[in-house]
Amino acid sequence: MESPVENYLHDLHAEIVQNRNGTVYTPGGAPSSADPDCFGICLATADGHVYEVGDTRTEFTLQSISKVFSYALALSDLGFDAVDAKVDVEPSGDPFNEISLAAGTGRPDNAMINAGALAVTSLIKGSGGKSAIKRIVRVLSDCAGRELSVNEPIFEAERRHSDRNHALAYLLRSFDIIEDDPTAVLENYLRHCSVRVTCRDLAIMAATLANGGTNPVTGVTALDLAPVERVLSVMMTSGMYDDAGAWLTSVGMPAKSGVGGGTLAVLPGQIGVAVFSPRLDAHGNSVRGVATSQRLSRELELHFVRAA
Ligand code: GLN
Repeated sequence: MESPVENYLHDLHAEIVQNRNGTVYTPGGAPSSADPDCFGICLATADGHVYEVGDTRTEFTLQSISKVFSYALALSDLGFDAVDAKVDVEPSGDPFNEISLAAGTGRPDNAMINAGALAVTSLIKGSGGKSAIKRIVRVLSDCAGRELSVNEPIFEAERRHSDRNHALAYLLRSFDIIEDDPTAVLENYLRHCSVRVTCRDLAIMAATLANGGTNPVTGVTALDLAPVERVLSVMMTSGMYDDAGAWLTSVGMPAKSGVGGGTLAVLPGQIGVAVFSPRLDAHGNSVRGVATSQRLSRELELHFVRAA
């Protein structure tokens, strides 16, 4: 017996599944997802109720959505001032892989574009016998409420075709934004991009952010409140790259997309929204992810600007 929320999600899913526009991300020619037609929608409330429809248990890679969590971890480890000295909090309005570094200093505009995310990843060090990547995967797993791992074949494919990110990492070191070996930083970055999740995981991760850093299903505190607030603010202006303005207008929730087909959106204090569908638009955002989020925002009144 389905709940009214699940009935509603079923109808929405049946409608939007008809949309077959967009192209699947293929790092190095290998499809990032087995089935381009997969489509899942999952909502998780800040008090731990989960509603799901469609392909919510199919795994795909987090890709750029992982930037949200590495940024939060760096902010927790180093404090705001040290991270801000390396990465700004300004929307770039640029595509995700743009070489957009401030003239003179080389400081990336924000942590949601690749340049900023590479800088952030370089700030995360090993600690307590755990490598930096293990610590990042730990935070991701605590947010999802289950043990996550790296999809090694996707990581290898990304690594073999990372000339642009490689160039970015070296450029960042030339400005002393990155101080470690750029190749090692790049590999850590690509590893956290290659962590596999399901749409259900993504919704619980979003609900953890909505709940101020404590996973509402497991009760585990994955992140502190202050970094979560900061990360949500930057997601608001920069999470959807050069589509951020249109997203903010039509959906009105801090969000982050990944080229693996995931979209994560958060209404703080209320709900986490996740959509999985691999076909992407020209910005690298999921076509159905954007369409579904627009409908959910309108029909469930999730836009953060609401007339009383
Ligand atoms: N692995 C991808 C890259 O760095 C992630 C990009 C994304 O999801 N937008 O190019």
